[in-house]
Amino acid sequence: MCCYETRCQRKWRKIFQNKISMAINGKATFHNGLKKCNGTLKGRMRALLCVKAQQLLSRGFIHPVRPSAAVRWQAAPSKLFCSSPPDGNNTPPSMLRHLTSKIKATGPIPVAEYMREVLTNPVKGYYVRNNMLGPEGDFITSPEISQIFGELIGVWIISEWMGAGQPKQLQLVELGPGKGSLASDVLRVFSQLQSVLGGASVSLHLVEVSPALSLLQAQNLTGNRSQEADAKDDPVYRRGETDAGLPVSWYHRLDDVPTGFSVFVAHEFFDALPIHKFQRTEKGWREVLVDIDPEKPDTLRFVVAPAPTLASTSLVQADETRDHVEVSAEGGVIVQQLARRIIEDGGAALIIDYGHNGTKTDTFRGFKGHQLHDVLASPGSADLTADVDFNYLRRMAGGGVACLGPVTQRTFLKNMGIDTRMQVLLRNCSDPSTRKQLISSYNMLTNPAKMGERFHFFSLLHPSRLAKPQKPEGLKLEKKKSPAPLPVAGFTELKFA
Ligand code: SAH
Repeated sequence: MCCYETRCQRKWRKIFQNKISMAINGKATFHNGLKKCNGTLKGRMRALLCVKAQQLLSRGFIHPVRPSAAVRWQAAPSKLFCSSPPDGNNTPPSMLRHLTSKIKATGPIPVAEYMREVLTNPVKGYYVRNNMLGPEGDFITSPEISQIFGELIGVWIISEWMGAGQPKQLQLVELGPGKGSLASDVLRVFSQLQSVLGGASVSLHLVEVSPALSLLQAQNLTGNRSQEADAKDDPVYRRGETDAGLPVSWYHRLDDVPTGFSVFVAHEFFDALPIHKFQRTEKGWREVLVDIDPEKPDTLRFVVAPAPTLASTSLVQADETRDHVEVSAEGGVIVQQLARRIIEDGGAALIIDYGHNGTKTDTFRGFKGHQLHDVLASPGSADLTADVDFNYLRRMAGGGVACLGPVTQRTFLKNMGIDTRMQVLLRNCSDPSTRKQLISSYNMLTNPAKMGERFHFFSLLHPSRLAKPQKPEGLKLEKKKSPAPLPVAGFTELKFA
């Protein structure tokens, strides 16, 4: 990395590193309600122990936070979420009925269509109907495990905003925000680093397909200061305001988010997007489809298309060497949109997910109650997911945008100063059970055998962000080097004062 800096950059780097150091080394303060929170936690944790020991994690604590942000395991209010009503004993569940009618009418359907229907069908979809996150749900994610995770992402966003020259406007756009925990932790960092953000006008934009989850996000981020949009044709379907007065808007699609300098964050979003599956056969590539088992009418099975489909001819690379591939065309389109926005309006995207570099084959799987679940069994009752192909995302992003990573979660979090932060928290914590929870969640996030090496961080940046200083040209008098860009936090180790 070249070390030439302008005076202004030096000043900002110093301010930034001091502020970040303060945020990371800052004195830990226990939340008032922690005792109560721990009690709840312990009960839930014990219950979960029987299910899967490694998912026994609790929220740490860092700064004094609003009770709702501190108590991550709190059960969601029951009126927001009801599990699917049990269908009569003799009739197949409604999602299965819906899929079998569709297949009877049109023939076997692509896996991508199956996944889209099961997860996001506006009436019966898994994401639309359920609260799947947390100990009582089907899976648990890093922002739900420890608030340090979202806080370090908050620091990363500010660092990228500074690297871009501190534009006056900063749109934080999250794709698939789940319970809103990540956004809430990021916003807390923003308010602590208010003096760094200065007068920038910050707004939060959430792209969420699930009405149920959007209500929970609204509750977590705005309390009761949000309301549904009146007009049906308004691309914003809900609007609100945080405690600090920041505007929050909800959209169904990324396309609806206004243009402007934005930092996009997608945590465990791309793995939920529909994938096409292809199988190499003696006759060439064929798409894998979902059909009804002729011997068991209420059971689905995979079949291989007898002839090429539009997808199999357009989505498999000519030089593909694997025998089975999964391609998320929808993920590709979203990355193209992100790249275009970053090139045109400035900004960055941080994509965090489990995945590979175009090496894996069959990764399509289901999760129910923290256990693997057959992807074709009782559709709509379990989460469906597939590993993200970061090579494919990089290819779809195109050459106009700079791509960094993927780097492992362990590397990213360590580069962001998670160890220093942990030391401060432990130094300020004497309660043995809280210390145990802190160490356990740190271990879950960073241990290579747990989430540390399974999850990866991948970033899209404006090309100017990594541009090498231009060589001086022309007359001697005009010879001035252009400044070196600030290093990209997380992907490069930063030294904290
Ligand atoms: N980011 C959160 C939640 C991950 S679960 C976390 O890490 O805790 C996936 C999230 O993406 C859910 O909020 C789900 O409702 C949302 N989602 C899934 N498919 C989507 C789509 N096509 N468009 C918008 N949101 C989607």
